[in-house]
Amino acid sequence: MKRFRRLVLFALLALVAAGGALYEGWIRVPPDLFPWGPVMLDRKPGWFANIQLNGLSTDGAACRAALGRTAMKFSVMADRKIGEDCGFTNVVRADATSIAMSPRPVATCAMTAGLYWWQQRLDAIAQAELHSRVVRIDQLGTYACRNINSAAEGRRSQHATANAIDIAAFHLADGRVISVLKDYGKPTPEGRFLDAAHDEACGLFNIVLGPDYNRLHANHFHLDLGGFRFCR
Ligand SMILES: [Zn+2]
Repeated sequence: MKRFRRLVLFALLALVAAGGALYEGWIRVPPDLFPWGPVMLDRKPGWFANIQLNGLSTDGAACRAALGRTAMKFSVMADRKIGEDCGFTNVVRADATSIAMSPRPVATCAMTAGLYWWQQRLDAIAQAELHSRVVRIDQLGTYACRNINSAAEGRRSQHATANAIDIAAFHLADGRVISVLKDYGKPTPEGRFLDAAHDEACGLFNIVLGPDYNRLHANHFHLDLGGFRFCR
């Protein structure tokens, strides 16, 4: 029992020492290892990537700073209030990203940060599964003043605040085009690429919906940073 107590005491002391060393900056912690501190989007997204993106959602200045540390080019757009519960704040236009997006998306800063991370992962998956690189992503839209599933009644979609994006297809350097509509769910390299792309998105964004969710998503992946998490 005495030995056990000594062990606990030792563990506690070691913890305090490690904490102190961290606080004093004696131990160098790799960026993005913890959910606090500046978000480094050029590094591979870590365990807390989703928490970090949600943090950027609530801190526009930190989010723009995170984008500013990357190689991407972006323009800060003016806030807009459109109608009763549509419009946006903290929105940027991604002018030049590691993988070109067509058309250039105008979305919340946090969504843009998430897309930047996702693009890096897509490139890694494409090289492993398809032995090529993704050179362009086709998107169907970010902002639309509408309800979820375009229903006449109900809650507003995250698209109503430009906090979402619909992704339709991926163009590869070797000329192939992989579309969610044609290739999703197939036991082909293209199908596996889409599966992995969907999985990676689920680790980053709050809500990810694809063809498995419903017929409205047969031709695209919906990604958003809304209030709860769901992946299908
Ligand atoms: Zn959508």
